[in-house]
Amino acid sequence: MLKLSKNEQDYLKAIYNLESKNDNEAVSIHLIAKKLDVASPSATEMIKRLSKKELVIYTPYRGVSLSHMGMVQARFIIKSHRVWETFLVEKLGYLSEEVHDEAENLEHASSPKLVEYLYALLGYPKVDPHGSEIPSEVFWEMQQSEIDLEQAKIGERYYITTMAESCKDFFRKLEMSMPHLIKIIERLQDGSVIIKEDNGKCSIIPHFLQDEIYLMQRNGFTTKFDEEKE
Ligand SMILES: [Zn+2]
Repeated sequence: MLKLSKNEQDYLKAIYNLESKNDNEAVSIHLIAKKLDVASPSATEMIKRLSKKELVIYTPYRGVSLSHMGMVQARFIIKSHRVWETFLVEKLGYLSEEVHDEAENLEHASSPKLVEYLYALLGYPKVDPHGSEIPSEVFWEMQQSEIDLEQAKIGERYYITTMAESCKDFFRKLEMSMPHLIKIIERLQDGSVIIKEDNGKCSIIPHFLQDEIYLMQRNGFTTKFDEEKE
């Protein structure tokens, strides 16, 4: 992911929203300026800048549309915003009417890694507290140190960083909460694996799902749970 300023991110998000309301047709600079409450000349200047970075395609007299890269960046910011709104409601007890302004700030301050970790922690929610869809694609490039569950070692502790859509469906159908911070307890003869979560809950993950779950090793910290129970 590129490093963009808050202002640049706000433009991409605004163009994304305007385009989707406009049947994905290019939108005028006038509309973008109006949406962001800025003067047209400063919007024109920013559009030129984003065009130079190949994030938007600007055709005079036709308008502005997002490039593929611009679309990816916009969807990341939208995911960041909606994941934060969900976190604030579910984990911190905010009312859904209160979260938008907080999320407007937090969305820009969050790295792709932070957003994906929060998303996993929340159990990969499909929608935010307002019912808007949360983009499910992963914006944090997979790290070299990531492995799939099949390769995980007994006794080691891991974060679950990524889960394939089919795997999430499996957990949803069984109405199981999705694991996040885990320790590998045992591998059974049929290839399924017993994991223990930080809250003490154990689950068995069947073999056919294990190459759809990606993990990162957790180094050098123990939880309260470990101290008490092990
Ligand atoms: Zn919002």
